[in-house]
Amino acid sequence: MTSSLIPIRSLLFILILCSCDMQKKMPVDVVSPVPEQYPSWITQDFVMGHFDPAKHPEFVVIDKKYADREGLFLHRDTYRAFLRMWEAAGQEGHQLVIRSATRNFDYQKRLWDQKWSGLTILSDGTSANEIPDPEIRARKILLYSSMPGTSRHHWGTDIDLNSFNNEYFETGAGEKLYQWLTEHGASFGFCQPYTDKSSGRTGYEEEKWHWSYIPLSGKLTSYCRDYISNDLISGFKGSEVAQKVDMLMNYILGINPECL
Ligand SMILES: [Zn+2]
Repeated sequence: MTSSLIPIRSLLFILILCSCDMQKKMPVDVVSPVPEQYPSWITQDFVMGHFDPAKHPEFVVIDKKYADREGLFLHRDTYRAFLRMWEAAGQEGHQLVIRSATRNFDYQKRLWDQKWSGLTILSDGTSANEIPDPEIRARKILLYSSMPGTSRHHWGTDIDLNSFNNEYFETGAGEKLYQWLTEHGASFGFCQPYTDKSSGRTGYEEEKWHWSYIPLSGKLTSYCRDYISNDLISGFKGSEVAQKVDMLMNYILGINPECL
């Protein structure tokens, strides 16, 4: 009988020692950081545009009344917020027209590859295929176009409005519309990610037409910071340059800090 008591005493001694040790190492006032939580539909494939918005349960089609053509899609939360903004802008005489919304990887790959091979002329009238150095060629396209897999247009949170020229937003009705968006867009959740670079941001040139629904895109930007790396960016012409230009830090995260 005594032989069974000895191990129990030993065990108690060990437990007392352990609990003292744990109290020393784990003070009660230490708070562990809580990892950011993302909805289950936010995945690496999703943020890199590998899905069909027409079949994605979170996406809805945009009524032609609000766009320049049929068949454009947005995340349903972005669309709901956009409709409220459209209504409010309309009451003050501004007609918002969506020119581009969700573009998945395949769509962006077509745009990128056509620019890379010179089938589409760049906005300054030159052809990218006349530039032999792949890094210089990519940087030229990257002034206004994203590499496939890295575009905010993959997310269903970003829209291009009214005109693809900054000049449109600098005179007349376009200027008044832009003033309205900068004053009131935030109250509907929208922010301009590609402002001028006075904030010190890197990446794409200014785009006064591109607006982002921050309650969702802020989360998606964080997800990219946590889970996307340059080596995942591939599957199109010139993709080997993604590392050299640091797509993640300079372009995906190179946005107006107010949109984070
Ligand atoms: Zn855009």
